[in-house]
Amino acid sequence: MAAARVEVASRVARKSEQGADANEELLTEWLLDAAWPSVEYVTFNRREEGVVGADWLWWFLDETGECFGVLVQAKKIHLRSGRLHLELDYPKHSGEQMRRLLASADEFEVPASYVLYCGGHPEREGLECGSHDPPGCERCARCDVAVLPALIARSVVFLNLDRPQDVAPDAYRAVIPLEDLMASADSAVLPLGFREVSDELKQYLMTPQIGARGVAKLFFDALSEQRKGAFSSFAATSEIMTSEMVFTDLPTDVGHFSTPYWVHVLRGLRRELPPIVRSMVLDGNDLPQPEGIAGIAVFHV
Ligand SMILES: [Zn+2]
Repeated sequence: MAAARVEVASRVARKSEQGADANEELLTEWLLDAAWPSVEYVTFNRREEGVVGADWLWWFLDETGECFGVLVQAKKIHLRSGRLHLELDYPKHSGEQMRRLLASADEFEVPASYVLYCGGHPEREGLECGSHDPPGCERCARCDVAVLPALIARSVVFLNLDRPQDVAPDAYRAVIPLEDLMASADSAVLPLGFREVSDELKQYLMTPQIGARGVAKLFFDALSEQRKGAFSSFAATSEIMTSEMVFTDLPTDVGHFSTPYWVHVLRGLRRELPPIVRSMVLDGNDLPQPEGIAGIAVFHV
C-alpha cells in the first residue's frame, strides 16, 4: 500500500506539472491499479452520475476469512483562492453527499468513511497531521492517501460552521494513513464506557489485533478518541447484531456523533465476506451490480 500511495502521488504530481488535475474517480482507479494484486476490485457503470457520487465498498479480508467492510467516498484537498479546501459539505454546502453516504452505509451495514487524496500537492504545506513532526514529517508523507471516518468528518463540519477555513486543517489532523490502518493494532484502546462492555469486547480492545480485526480496531480507535472529548455520559444499553457479525452485542452510546458509533463501526466486522462480494470480486462472476456504488474492492490484509 505504501508503494501504491507513492505511485498515486507521483501521478498527481505529473498531472500537476502538465497543468492538469485528476478527479477523485481517477485517483481511486490509480490507487487500486497500483495496489493490485494485493487489492482485487471490480468497477461498475455509473448509472446515476452526479447523484450518488462515487461510493465504493471496500472490504479488508484476512487469511482467517474474517473481513471488515467500509463504504468510502473519495475526496481531495485542493487549493482555491490561496486557501486549502476540503468539500465535506458537498454539493453547495448542503451536506447532501455526506447524508447519502451515511444512509447508504446503513443499508450495507458497514461504517462510512472518506478516503482523502492529499498527495502530490505541494500546497499541502501548512497542514499538520495528528502527530506532526516537522520538517519532513513521515506521517504526513503517509497521509498522501488517508482515511477519515465519516462520523468524524461530520463533527468537523458541524464544529466549523462559522469557520469553513478550518475544515481542511481539522479534518487532516484526524485522518489515518491508509497503510497504517492495515498495520497491526498493538496499542490498547480504552474507550469511554470500557468497563460496561462485554468481556469479549474488552479482550478485543485490550490485546493486539491483526488482519480485519486490526483494521476495525484502528478505525474504531479514531472515533473513540473523539468521543472522549464530548461531555455526555456513556449509554450502557446494547444492540444485538446478526450472527454474521464478529461482535453481536454492542453498546448504543451515541456521544456527539448522533449515531451509535460502536454499532456503526463494528457492524462492518464480519465472520466472512458477503457471498455476492466473493462471487463478483474474487471469483470474477458477472452478477447484477448492487445499486448506488461505483465498485467493490477487496484488500488482502
Ligand atoms: Zn505530520
